[in-house]
Amino acid sequence: MASRGEDFLQRRRRWSVAATIRNFVGGRYAEDTAAGFDKVSPVDGTVTARVQEAGQSLVDRAVSAARKALHGPWGDTSVQERARLLRRIADRIDERADELLAAEVSDTGKPVSLAKELDIARAAGNFRAFADVVAATGLDSYLTEFPGGRALNYAVRKPLGVVAVIVPWNLPLLLLTWKVAPALASGNTVVVKPSELTPAGATLLAEILTEAGVPDGVYNVVHGFGPGSAGEALTSHPGVDGITFTGESSTGSAIMRAAAPRVRPVSFELGGKNAALVFADADLGKTVDGLARSVFTNTGQVCLCTERVYVQREVFDEVASGLAERAAALRPGRPEDPATTTGPLISLEHREKVLSYLKLAEQDGAKVVAGGGIPAMGPELDGGAWIEPTLWTGLDHSSRVVREEVFGPVAALIPFDTEEEAVTLANDTDYGLAAAVWTTNLERGHRVAQRMNVGMAWVNTWFLRDLRSPFGGVGLSGIGREGGTHSLDFYTEPTNVCVQL
Ligand code: NAD
Repeated sequence: MASRGEDFLQRRRRWSVAATIRNFVGGRYAEDTAAGFDKVSPVDGTVTARVQEAGQSLVDRAVSAARKALHGPWGDTSVQERARLLRRIADRIDERADELLAAEVSDTGKPVSLAKELDIARAAGNFRAFADVVAATGLDSYLTEFPGGRALNYAVRKPLGVVAVIVPWNLPLLLLTWKVAPALASGNTVVVKPSELTPAGATLLAEILTEAGVPDGVYNVVHGFGPGSAGEALTSHPGVDGITFTGESSTGSAIMRAAAPRVRPVSFELGGKNAALVFADADLGKTVDGLARSVFTNTGQVCLCTERVYVQREVFDEVASGLAERAAALRPGRPEDPATTTGPLISLEHREKVLSYLKLAEQDGAKVVAGGGIPAMGPELDGGAWIEPTLWTGLDHSSRVVREEVFGPVAALIPFDTEEEAVTLANDTDYGLAAAVWTTNLERGHRVAQRMNVGMAWVNTWFLRDLRSPFGGVGLSGIGREGGTHSLDFYTEPTNVCVQL
């Protein structure tokens, strides 16, 4: 018997061709726009929805609605009230989880099991985590001694204001709620621009937030593309007080330029070219399992995915063949099929990009130890953006395949001899998001992890996250940290009051 989720997915598939995805402004769906675009399923290439594209005037209205809401009753809410509201939102997400699941799976094509476990669970989890964080922070106050006496200092944290939230397509709801939860917890209002490739979840979330009691204008959604469309109109808008963005490093540069004239704060979570370092003393069974997850989860489309695997020479062949076996065992297929363990890439356009790296690897003399092309999916699914999980050996460190983010289920395996060499190779990159060290020597684990020039280093694990810990990257991987109170630092501006006693 089909579960509730599967039932819903089937219904949704039937509806989806006619579905229209609308903009949400000032607490209601906006009227139809003249411009729009099709949402194409990455699974089979069919059109699943028509998305209404927001132009300058709708973006203007969304920003004004957010400004108006900031100065309305929302501006007087207490931290405790907002924490309670966030918990109500999380409960509504749980209640409407099947619908969110359908939206997310229809947009991304990822397996239902993965979306359920990762994206939907984290969407509710993000709201609960920031309800806890904001409820736990009070006023920071302290006494200062000075020659004439004493002074009381206290900082009042005020919301940044109207925050533009720009998010990508790979974990649409997870990454959106990761920003919206702390923004609302801190008393901001938001105008959200989801990826043009995954518009459904952000729109459904508007209904959920409204049902939970979020006032009109606090959460607005505008749909469209980046340059020359809703994205650029929003990030260059004079009514926006801060921009939080997750996406490609080059887009981060463009958004930084848009923010520069009015010197608005930005928080950027950008691309990665993450390394795993496997030492000969590692527990190889667990390591290969962990590596396989870190390379292939979400078809390699997680910013934290590993694309460079450095392996100590004496265990290189064993690790390479173990990982190749894991790659071959992955089962692509329809998301709702329980046997499916891997989904397609997000779009045919993105597959072209990944294929160009497959070609480049060949030109650069790589040996393909797994995959290397497009799998035969049969007539029903051949229109989808399918790709084989691919592993290479024999690539030089100067190859663009080793230096640039591919964002697919691919990795280059590179041997090393000494710890020093492994650290040097892993840090030889313009990116600095994440790294994972695999060893049973605890001292080495701590030592090497601390030497990684990244925002997040794991030892004998990957992707494990405490939502209070700082998340972000260095170099081309981003600016700032989010998570726990680190998020509140971005979404609030402190005013310090010094009172002579
Ligand atoms: P992208 O940069 O192409 O697009 C992200 C968002 O920005 C989309 O909503 C897009 O419409 C918008 N956009 C594009 N150009 C814009 C412009 N000039 N002005 C305003 N908005 C603009 O990224 P993507 O392809 O959607 O996502 C994949 C990238 O995201 C990868 O590089 C990945 O590493 C990165 N990512 C990083 C993290 C992280 O936490 N560091 C997490 C997930 C994804």
